[in-house]
Amino acid sequence: MKTIIEPFKIKVVESIRMTTQEEREALLQSAGYNLFLVSAEDVLIDLLTDSGTAAMSSRQWAAVMDGDEAYAGSRSWFHFEAAVREVFGFAHIIPTHQGRAAERILFSLTCSPGDIVPNNTHFDTTRANIEHCGAQAIDLVIPEGKEPATVHPFKGNMDTEALEGIIRIHGKDKIPLVMLTITNNSGGGQPVSMRNIRDVSGIAHTYGIPLYIDACRFAENAYFIKLREPGYAARSIPDIVREMFSHADGCTMSAKKDGLANIGGFLCTRNAGLAEQEKELLILTEGFPTYGGLAGRDLDAIAVGLREAMHEDYLNYRIASTSYLGSHIAERGVPIVQPPGGHAIYIDAKAMLPHIPPGRYPGQALCCELYRSGGIRSVEIGSVMFGRRDPDTGEEIPAPMELVRLAIPRRVYTQSHIDYVVEVILEVLDRKDTIPGYRITHQASFLRHFTARFEPIGMA
Ligand SMILES: *Cc1c(COP(=O)(O)O)cnc(C)c1O
Repeated sequence: MKTIIEPFKIKVVESIRMTTQEEREALLQSAGYNLFLVSAEDVLIDLLTDSGTAAMSSRQWAAVMDGDEAYAGSRSWFHFEAAVREVFGFAHIIPTHQGRAAERILFSLTCSPGDIVPNNTHFDTTRANIEHCGAQAIDLVIPEGKEPATVHPFKGNMDTEALEGIIRIHGKDKIPLVMLTITNNSGGGQPVSMRNIRDVSGIAHTYGIPLYIDACRFAENAYFIKLREPGYAARSIPDIVREMFSHADGCTMSAKKDGLANIGGFLCTRNAGLAEQEKELLILTEGFPTYGGLAGRDLDAIAVGLREAMHEDYLNYRIASTSYLGSHIAERGVPIVQPPGGHAIYIDAKAMLPHIPPGRYPGQALCCELYRSGGIRSVEIGSVMFGRRDPDTGEEIPAPMELVRLAIPRRVYTQSHIDYVVEVILEVLDRKDTIPGYRITHQASFLRHFTARFEPIGMA
């Protein structure tokens, strides 16, 4: 059969409150045309993020019920530790409340002012935690990874020549670790090949530098390797995952992604001395090393979720459903980042709405229109999020790209929800020339996208 069905039945449902276009127009207005300020209750299909929004399985909920809340050495901790060790193969495992807590602990022990950390593309919390230590975060994704329309099977790969160049210029002592983010979230959820992981590891190790993997979407990345890389078609996902991590010295992880959990994370290493120091810091800010800021029930949910995320039927549905959305809008002329990544589709709003200049925020305009038209919440990744003021002229410098991200929560929406999203996007496409640009009426001095207020600018 060629129809791919959701590989689950639905045991519990959560109602969606239906709204009309008139209601949404009023809601948009009172939220200052910023979807971060709209209540989730007023959203029909919420594609704001895939982080912490997964639907847990009945097995995960059963594990939650069985969670052991003992402060030290709880049963849940041993389940969690065994699962993480089985999946990733690291000796030392440190639980944290989110991925960024793992990052903070790792970088504050390894990075000094003036150091350099190369990555394919740093996720924003990763970059911020490195910079907070006075070190520099450098992005070395291959050139194809920066071109939205270019199709490449592993657009998340690191440019290995550029990596060698950086090590030679700055010297290995300035580079405490090399990182690889799989999949490359900030670069469109694009995968990294096994060959690239092996090559990057080889280069780093030649210079005695450890390689850490930002493991958030490890299972989606492994599935792309199975589908696209010669020699992996017959290998199981757990086997591919073990090989991926065999090349690394440690990892950071947000269990809110491929942990299929609503909260949690961890930090792993093979270095016993470093693990001791990490546990000391953990106690300071997160908690005792057998719970690290999580409830026992969360540890149990993650232990089950990590294994479920590697089921091939699940991954087949997951990747097919994301690419179904992407290909159905792309074939009708909506410009998207190609090829579709694992967890999200990115619409190129600059190309779709050429009549709106970057200074009038085409991404924001499209986000508002998708909400007004169909109650869909997406997020602008463009000049609202990344625009900067020129320190001399005070003029705004636009971001390099004006994207709208549609992130797909795991196991939450069915094919008819996705069909609806396609229909709304195509309806907006049909009348794209009538969509107005926006101006900012209120903004904070940093991270303005969370709280800014806007108003539409009347069409001339
Ligand atoms: C989400 C994410 C993080 C941070 O994890 P949190 O759990 O949100 O703190 C780090 N790296 C990548 C690639 C992510 O997607």
